Amino acid sequence: MITITDKSLCCGCTACMSACPAQCIVMRRDREGFDYPVINSPDLCLECGKCESVCPVLNPLETAGPLEALAVRSQKWLEGSSSGGVFPALAEEVISDGGVVFGAVVNDDMTVGHAEACDMAGVEKMRGSKYVQSDLFASYEDVRYWLAEGRKVLFTGTPCQVAGLHRYLGRPYDALYTVDVLCHGVPSPGLWEKYVKALETEHGGRMTYVRFKDKSAGWRHYAFTTSFGSCPYMDDPYMALFVQDMTLRPSCYKCAARDGRSGSDLTFSDLWSVQLCAPEMSDDKGVSGIYVNTEKGRQLLGRLASGIEAESVDIELSRMDNGGFRDPEGIPERRAEFFKGMHSCDDIIRYMKAYVVRKPLWKRMYRAVRGFLSSCKKNILK
Ligand SMILES: Cc1cc2nc3c(=O)[nH]c(=O)nc-3n(C[C@H](O)[C@H](O)[C@H](O)COP(=O)(O)OP(=O)(O)OC[C@H]3O[C@@H](n4cnc5c(N)ncnc54)[C@H](O)[C@@H]3O)c2cc1C
Repeated sequence: MITITDKSLCCGCTACMSACPAQCIVMRRDREGFDYPVINSPDLCLECGKCESVCPVLNPLETAGPLEALAVRSQKWLEGSSSGGVFPALAEEVISDGGVVFGAVVNDDMTVGHAEACDMAGVEKMRGSKYVQSDLFASYEDVRYWLAEGRKVLFTGTPCQVAGLHRYLGRPYDALYTVDVLCHGVPSPGLWEKYVKALETEHGGRMTYVRFKDKSAGWRHYAFTTSFGSCPYMDDPYMALFVQDMTLRPSCYKCAARDGRSGSDLTFSDLWSVQLCAPEMSDDKGVSGIYVNTEKGRQLLGRLASGIEAESVDIELSRMDNGGFRDPEGIPERRAEFFKGMHSCDDIIRYMKAYVVRKPLWKRMYRAVRGFLSSCKKNILK
């Protein structure tokens, strides 16, 4: 029977719950708003050890370095996607082949969870980054079901979700393609739900729409947009605390699945250093940095050849200016205090704002000037 000796390591992937033949494991929310597996009915436990053997934290996958990095974008899907719109292009390819696609959606009640799609209307809801840990529900069992039915499956998620799926399945499947997003961490679903309720109270109505990364006014300085309005992402306290790493799941600070350890065929990121790597694609509409981790991933991407712009780029250069590649700096000093106080505060929006730290102006200006100079240098060297 799985016992979590150090809760801060559990990534909440649900592999143990999905693998339990006696169904005695459930996911339960903690006070920080994250879901953890607990043994619901110990008397039903068969002591088979499956829950431990599928855990991607107890049994990390081998590191697979990227074979290649590419700057990629799909003009057809650029608008409405978070970076280069390669996810919907891949999904369309898999669906046209009779396949099934798994990805994160925002539900009607603004919670975030995984869903499956057999058509592009379903895929549409998966587009866009949702900065909340997505609830996988029974996705792992559903993936296995479709594979057993002989269907192709494209599973997209965070590195820990992809690693958990591989451990749960226990063997490779030719018909399975996995893609992870470059992820520096996932914020608390409980905090997100509290924030949504507070915004609804403030505006006197239901929230019906959210776009965490709205690039309609620019990809670099994207906006956080809801049915109540839009603002630069750093002006929204939920987004600012996410970017500051204040509200991430404890396991994210020592992620066991990032850096090529998820078993994914492809990794999707924002190519923030596009001016250095592929300046001709730098028009502030969004470009993906795609890391090809397996030959299978290369083949899948190759099938899109006619519908996308793709250019091989230097791996090291492609990682520049991307927080997703930086080594975690450890747990912020005030994180524990933040989560402890969030239940007792009167006004969660004001409370969150009090924890936002604005970078000093000189640091922001230094960063902008450094970016400008390095792009000039690169253009001169060309
Ligand atoms: C929590 C999170 C943190 C990220 N951090 C970084 C980062 O630091 N640096 C960086 O370069 N890129 C980061 N990304 C990835 C990036 O923003 C884009 O999502 C990615 O490049 C895909 O872009 P696209 O245009 O091809 O896909 P889109 O069409 O925008 O599709 C979005 C894809 O992301 C998946 N997805 C969205 N939200 C979630 C979620 N909550 N959980 C699991 N999967 C999800 C969907 O299933 C879909 O496959 C992050 C994404 C997420 C979800």
